[in-house]
Amino acid sequence: MSHVLPPLPYGLEALAPHITQRTLEIHHGKHHNAYVTNLNKLVAGTPLEKSSLEDTLQAAKGDATKAGIFNNAAQIWNHTFYWNSMKPKGGGKPTGDLLSKIEKELGGYEKFAEEFTAAATTQFGSGWAWLVLDGGKLKVTKTGNADTPIAHGQKPLVTIDVWEHAYYLDFQNRRPDYIKTFLESLINWDFAAKNLK
Ligand code: MN
Repeated sequence: MSHVLPPLPYGLEALAPHITQRTLEIHHGKHHNAYVTNLNKLVAGTPLEKSSLEDTLQAAKGDATKAGIFNNAAQIWNHTFYWNSMKPKGGGKPTGDLLSKIEKELGGYEKFAEEFTAAATTQFGSGWAWLVLDGGKLKVTKTGNADTPIAHGQKPLVTIDVWEHAYYLDFQNRRPDYIKTFLESLINWDFAAKNLK
């Protein structure tokens, strides 16, 4: 199948002033789109040409000769997941079953926020921080470059992109301010709760 760039789940101005239209135009319209274009080129005429995105990613993982395919496929998947991990007027604490599970397994929302902030801050260079289900239990984790929890048998609930292209226009080098803003004003707990089910 030919991979396509999924539309953003909100308008280009919807996350402003935290993440501006200019960032979304470039991040979604250029970076995310380039991963789609690149993957389609890389799989054209190969046995993976007709595979779904997830099948392509799983087939290419750990195969050094398919690193380009894995990286582009994983980046497409991660970015689509990231757009859904934010919403206008998001942020704050989760509720319901997800909050209970965070309290039980991570020691509460404040502990989660600390752990998530630490993971996102300490990911050296490019990558992602995640809240995942690992063997049914909540876990905060991080991945480098294009790597994704779905390649490691984990089920992501929510993610933040900490590649510089995600925040440089709006926050320059201040990654910690971007992470704080993500948690306070953007994180989409409805999406995380849906992924928990
Ligand atoms: Mn990105």
